[in-house]
Amino acid sequence: MAGAGDDGPRIVFLGAPGSGKGTQAALLAEHLGVPAISTGEMLRDAVAQGSLLGERVREVMARGELVADDLMAEVVEERLARGDARRGFLLDGYPRTAKQAETLAAILERSSKRLDHVISIEVPEEKLIERALLRQRADDTGEVIRARLRVYREKTAPLIDHYRKQRLLRTVDGERSVSEVQSEIFRILE
Ligand code: AMP
Repeated sequence: MAGAGDDGPRIVFLGAPGSGKGTQAALLAEHLGVPAISTGEMLRDAVAQGSLLGERVREVMARGELVADDLMAEVVEERLARGDARRGFLLDGYPRTAKQAETLAAILERSSKRLDHVISIEVPEEKLIERALLRQRADDTGEVIRARLRVYREKTAPLIDHYRKQRLLRTVDGERSVSEVQSEIFRILE
């Protein structure tokens, strides 16, 4: 049973690059008063600072591939141990592989916590390519965008079924405006 002050929620956001999950995660986190933890943002900060972590992930990120699961496990475990994440969090961009989902489950289990919801923002791939090309970062090429989408389809999309089986999955149609998607997410969580 959850102890006093242990009041969640603990939410994972799934969604391909360009699905709007980062935007929605930030909006929901603010609404719920829990931190939105974006592993992509943490890694980009590390690269910008030129830290050891940044050095290790820079090239993999530039190719649109995934950083190794073991390294991500260290990053996420350390982040979730910080005080602000103890009473709930929203994960944006983790887990991205079956192995990462196992790691997250193990981290939570060690502190007798569990996930409350997994929100999958669904957008058809053609639409994602269109959106991704519009918002591409300076160093992204069409090729890197396609690599990111392929990685999502092959490695991350299988988590949708994994969490559906655990009855944690809530799917949201992401092909609408930011505020419409936001309202639907708020409604689902009520
Ligand atoms: P994002 O901003 O979430 O799209 O992440 C940007 C990049 O950071 C990804 O393309 C990956 O190279 C890396 N990254 C972020 N989160 C993860 C993760 N959970 N596992 C592996 N690589 C990640």
